[in-house]
Order: sequence, then structure tokens, then C-alpha cells
Amino acid sequence: MEAILNKVPALAPELVNLGGVHKHYGQGLAACHALHDIHLKLAPAEMIAVCGPSGSGKTSLLNIIGMLDSATEGSVIIARLLVSKMSDQGRADLRNELIGFVFQSSSLIPVMTAHENVLLPLMLRGRLDETALEETEQRAADLLSRLGLATQMRQYPGRLDASQCQRVAIARALVTLPRLVVADEPTSRLDNGCIRLVMDLFARYQHEHGTAFVLSTRDQRQFSRVSRTLQLNEGRLASTPTEARRRPLRVQG
Ligand code: ADP
Ligand code: MG
Repeated sequence: MEAILNKVPALAPELVNLGGVHKHYGQGLAACHALHDIHLKLAPAEMIAVCGPSGSGKTSLLNIIGMLDSATEGSVIIARLLVSKMSDQGRADLRNELIGFVFQSSSLIPVMTAHENVLLPLMLRGRLDETALEETEQRAADLLSRLGLATQMRQYPGRLDASQCQRVAIARALVTLPRLVVADEPTSRLDNGCIRLVMDLFARYQHEHGTAFVLSTRDQRQFSRVSRTLQLNEGRLASTPTEARRRPLRVQG
């Protein structure tokens, strides 16, 4: 009901539309103005990168787009819904339905195997019938295989290295076939071979399932397939999305 009331009536083709977004943390001497007047539009099935040094506001911005946090000021529209006016519960429900999130730290559950960790978002959605369960278990296994983890599926996170944990977290974000994947420095612990596996998988989801991606990075050379790279410095986007540096779609080689 809340979602319907907050529906933006005008035709809004964008999947994400941020208008004049600011983010403040803390108060007084501890106050931090992390994001300044951010305007950003993302089309369905588009893949963009947000690039900036440590402390530039990448996580703050991605948490707002991923509906994990709210903007202090400005409008946040996701899938034509005015998220900035929604309750925490409304945002959480929408997030579960639409978004796959890759945290900067992998955040895996230590008592679950790699395969179980990937299945977790589906388990949280409620009971699956036998056919759906089989299909999703297969999808989780397929994702792990494509990320080079076929022989680690039954391992617990404590037995996996940082690169393997990061790849499990990436598989977990894709398993629900989300409309939008928000990934905070998803390749920071990967070597070039693994980065290529991840970018190939992202491109496959983009083309086969129409998934959109917002990726953050400190090193923009990591993302060869994005259509736009937005530069973030001290909480400000260096250019408006339309002026941002555009890269042709090409295969990383
Ligand atoms: P990045 O991901 O690019 O490293 P962040 O979004 O984490 O940047 O941080 C941007 C700024 O906001 C930094 O100055 C950081 O110290 C501050 N910041 C981030 N999260 C918090 C928080 N929860 N409380 C206070 N300040 C924060
Ligand atoms: Mg960060």
C-alpha cells in the first residue's frame, strides 16, 4: 500500500533517479557532510561505475542507492517509487524485491557454507516449493562455478581466502535475479583473472536478465564494461551524468 501511495505519477523511465541528494553524518564537531548535491540517473540494464579515493563518499552513495541508508536531503526515486518518503520497513521490502547488494566487506555468515550463503537471500524471502528450491540451488551452484568456485561450494567462509569470499558475496547478490545490483568495491580483493570472470558474469546478467549495475571502485581501470564512469571527490560528483566520461562497451582483454 505504502509503495503504491509513493508511486511517482509522471513517466519516469529511469530505474534510479537521485535529485539534489545530500548526506550528513553526526553533529557538532563530529559532523561530516559526506555527499553534496548529487544528481544521478540510471537506466534499466545500464552499468555504471562510481570512482573515487577512500573517503570520497562511494559507500555513502551506494548505501543510498541500495536503500540501506536514507539521504539527509534530496529525492531518491527507485523503480518509480519515491524511496526518500518511505518508512524503513517499506524500503527494506522494496530492497529485498529489487536489489542485490555486494558489501565492501564480504559479510558472509560463518556457519553457512559458500553455497548456503549464496542461497540466503532466497531463504529470507520465505518458503520455496520443491521445484523452485531445486532451480535456485542450481542457479547458486552455477554462479559459484562461473566465478571459479566449483570446488569450494561446501566450504565454510573461514576456509576461504579474501578473493573467494568476495566472489561468494557477488554470487549472493545475483542469485535473486535482481533488477539492480549495487556493488561496493566488488573487485578490490580479486586478481585480474577473477575480475574478468566477475565482469563477464555481470555483462551476462545485464544482457540476459536486464540487470542494472552500480559499481564502485578506487581504480577505474578495473571496470572495462561500464557505459559511464562517474568521478566522486570529497562527496561531489565531478561531472553531471551526461557530461561524464563515456566508454564504449568492450570486452576486457
Ligand atoms: P568511501 O566509501 O569513498 O571511502 P564513505 O562513504 O565511506 O567513503 O565516507 C565518506 C565520508 O563520510 C568520510 O569522511 C567518512 O569518514 C564519513 N562517514 C562515512 N560513514 C560514516 C558514519 N557512519 N558516521 C560518520 N561519518 C561517516
Ligand atoms: Mg567505501
